[in-house]
Amino acid sequence: MQGDFRALPSVDRVLRSGHGADLATRFGATAATRAVRAALDEARAAVAGGGAAPSPEQVAEAALARLRADRATGLRPVFNLTGTVLHTNLGRALLAEAAIEAATEAMRQAVALEYDLDGGGRGERDDHVRTLICELTGAEAATVVNNNAAAVLLALNSLAGGGGGAVISRGELIEIGGAFRMPDIMARAGARLIEVGTTNRTHPRDYQAGLAEPGAVLVLKVHPSNYRIEGFVTGVEVPALARLTSAAGAPLIHDLGSGTLVDLGQWGIRPEPTVREAVSAGADLVTFSGDKLLGGPQAGFIVGRRDLVERINRNPMKRALRLDKMRLAALEATLRLYREPERLADRLPTLRLLARPLPEIRALAEGLRGPVAARLGVDVEVTVHSCDSQIGSGAMPLETLPSFGLALRPRDGSPDRLSLALRQLARPVIGRIADGALILDLRCLEDPEGFLDTLAAGAAR
Ligand SMILES: *Cc1c(COP(=O)(O)O)cnc(C)c1O
Repeated sequence: MQGDFRALPSVDRVLRSGHGADLATRFGATAATRAVRAALDEARAAVAGGGAAPSPEQVAEAALARLRADRATGLRPVFNLTGTVLHTNLGRALLAEAAIEAATEAMRQAVALEYDLDGGGRGERDDHVRTLICELTGAEAATVVNNNAAAVLLALNSLAGGGGGAVISRGELIEIGGAFRMPDIMARAGARLIEVGTTNRTHPRDYQAGLAEPGAVLVLKVHPSNYRIEGFVTGVEVPALARLTSAAGAPLIHDLGSGTLVDLGQWGIRPEPTVREAVSAGADLVTFSGDKLLGGPQAGFIVGRRDLVERINRNPMKRALRLDKMRLAALEATLRLYREPERLADRLPTLRLLARPLPEIRALAEGLRGPVAARLGVDVEVTVHSCDSQIGSGAMPLETLPSFGLALRPRDGSPDRLSLALRQLARPVIGRIADGALILDLRCLEDPEGFLDTLAAGAAR
């Protein structure tokens, strides 16, 4: 039989077979034909290698597997049981219902995006959120762009593009991940890096020396986000730095990274300085993300001095980095929720998950242990597990939140295969492996029934 290509069915025969006809009905003729061709190519290679030619039904089945896999890829909803609430690789903040509705509406209808309804002329895209941002941060002016990386790039390019010197401490020349490295961003912004101080210690006199260099035009202060140096460490805080920069007539840009609009201490989360505090501490511009602690869509904010924001808005790069109507609508709706801080923890998923009471998570873990064990079968030991969640996205990296989850221990040893199997479910379940177990942190599980159904459907397969 080796090399007997004549035994291979034709595309047409496969498509006319029982299963094959089904494919075209379910997935459309074009996709079905393409999948059958690909399955036949694979079969041809197998025949060339000495395998037997498959029947039309077998080819149709292989094509079906391809079509299913094709449909399954893409932005699939997953269960984020990693314990990291703002998981960058899982899309960071979940949006509030109000934000989802606003974005959906903006998708479906024409909206007054850049249209002045009073005057009937052209309006400004930023108008929709500017007032809210200024109100919530105490800043005099504000603008929004694609993300915080864009905000930093745009601010630097507007104020120091063309080789202006940007002074920064060596302790803040950080990499955030995803190729966001401060020195590279500065270079791409056209700014000339003036590094001052050392990795662990930077003093006011270092900044003064930097500002005295020819062509120095601004100082950049960067939140160290996902790393921390401890021990013999000194930095210059914003108020002191602001005195130096204003004496030198050079703006101070403070990249806050996550940025929060409210004091998180009231929900038991160790507080980060708020954007309002950063503004009043004296930074001329403050930048931060929309989809980290703020809990909105991906966006980057630049808030601060009106004259500087105006310069930024005149930069042609602003047009290339602007927000679309869907995110702008979601952002505005998210910011509106901050006008009622008492109800924020109910309405904003990010805060709701971060502030979720420990007894509630524990009860969830205890309630799910039995049903999960039943669905995973006797080969997996399931126990209630006390663990630590993280905020994620570089916000307060050393700060963990006590949480509860399930530890899954396959009796044959390694949790890797189980972890893979759960990632291959219709709605993938993403946990983390620690101490030889697959840990499912339940802090972010708000749909336990859906989770159990998914496991049951996987077990039945
Ligand atoms: C996260 C972060 C950024 C990048 O923000 P994105 O919104 O992800 O683009 C920049 N700077 C700091 C300090 C950050 O923590």
